[in-house]
Amino acid sequence: MMDHRPNQLKYIYSIVRKPLIYFVGLLEVFAIIMNAAVFHVFAADITEGDNMNDTIKICIDPGHGGENLGAEWNGYLEKDMTMIVARSMKEELEKYQGIEVYMTRTEDVDMSLEERVDYAASVDADFFFCLHFNMSAEHDMYGAECWVSAFGNDYARGFDFSKIEMGLLTDLGLYDRGIKTRLNSEGTNYYGVLRMADLEDMPAVIIEHCHLDNYNDEPFYDEYDWLVEYGKLDATAVAMYYGLYSQELGKDYSDYTYEPTPVPSECVKPDLSPPDKPSVSYGEPYETESGVKVDAILTASDPDSRMLYYSYSDDGGITWSERFRWADDEGQLIGDSILTDTIHTTLDVRSDRDMYVIFKVYNLYNLDSDSAPYYIEAVAAKGTEADEISSEAATGDPDTEYTTIDRTEKKDSDDKDDNPFDRSDYDNAYIFGFAALALGILLVISTLGYIIYSHRPRRR
Ligand SMILES: [Zn+2]
Repeated sequence: MMDHRPNQLKYIYSIVRKPLIYFVGLLEVFAIIMNAAVFHVFAADITEGDNMNDTIKICIDPGHGGENLGAEWNGYLEKDMTMIVARSMKEELEKYQGIEVYMTRTEDVDMSLEERVDYAASVDADFFFCLHFNMSAEHDMYGAECWVSAFGNDYARGFDFSKIEMGLLTDLGLYDRGIKTRLNSEGTNYYGVLRMADLEDMPAVIIEHCHLDNYNDEPFYDEYDWLVEYGKLDATAVAMYYGLYSQELGKDYSDYTYEPTPVPSECVKPDLSPPDKPSVSYGEPYETESGVKVDAILTASDPDSRMLYYSYSDDGGITWSERFRWADDEGQLIGDSILTDTIHTTLDVRSDRDMYVIFKVYNLYNLDSDSAPYYIEAVAAKGTEADEISSEAATGDPDTEYTTIDRTEKKDSDDKDDNPFDRSDYDNAYIFGFAALALGILLVISTLGYIIYSHRPRRR
């Protein structure tokens, strides 16, 4: 059979044919690799969050268990309460997309703190949540609080989560006892779970939901449903923190943002000094239908932390009142942004004996200071005792700056580029990736076709 092509062209073709095929083949391989890389980068960028995987792993630790009962009061048992909360938290969280939930214990068993942290680390948890209920020696404290590591990224991430958590807990009506650090004598984290989680570079928070031994908090734990509610609340805080989405719950926190706490370069030390000595300004006694009263204006300050409670004694410090919230007349917490503030209160003047009034103020770290004693004469008979009582001037320093403990702040942002959880970007990336991949596959098939065609058996 005759070849009609000129010999010259045929010769050139026979020389470049093979290199050309290899060159096109190489181009194909390069295109495939580029496709895969682009697809991977887009997908990873959008779902990244705190980890490189699509899935966020969290570990829940129901505090105490087995022989370790935790707090025990009036039939309430902490180890059982934390288990109910933990199960509810897990169940709720698993209704969200992109999350895996682990529990250190699912039964009523003893577990050391080390075993709990080791387990969380073994499942590669991104965050470790230790659930607890509180109790005080004198049964006089109430409210919710969170404990976080005092160091670096674990402090910052712990604080970020705790701001959300405390916001939800105080919305329920619980009193805000703050987000705090605590150190041991060696200058590392006092709480073992936080200390050991630090070694694993695993952010961790101890959530003390409320006090199970105080009547102020009792309406918030006296029914089983409350504990289930705490679990859902804790799950919601996690969902908000990570910007999760749940079709089942109809909740989408992908737009929820907050101002991240800067990573501290030094240890965030707890306040180890009591508040400054409080000053009290007493008014003139006056008669009411329910007896003779004295108004008092209490002023307290602390350069390191805000006030938490106050109480008073009318017998020179032998017996004390319950602890009252450091809140204004409308019940709003005072001191989130200012250090020095005043409390307006009213005392009943006794008729059975003279009074030696002392006010005690407690800061966020439960350190206290007493005011100077103030004498108020007993009400002897109607309208005869008032004249001798004078008032003292308040001497607080209203200009002192307070170390801010910010409550949850929701920062609205329309800039979608800042939001790693935006769903439309996520979808676009997949469409782009698949289109690129399909193009690559087409190119491979066409090249293969060309190679097969050019190697087809020829009749001579
Ligand atoms: Zn506990």
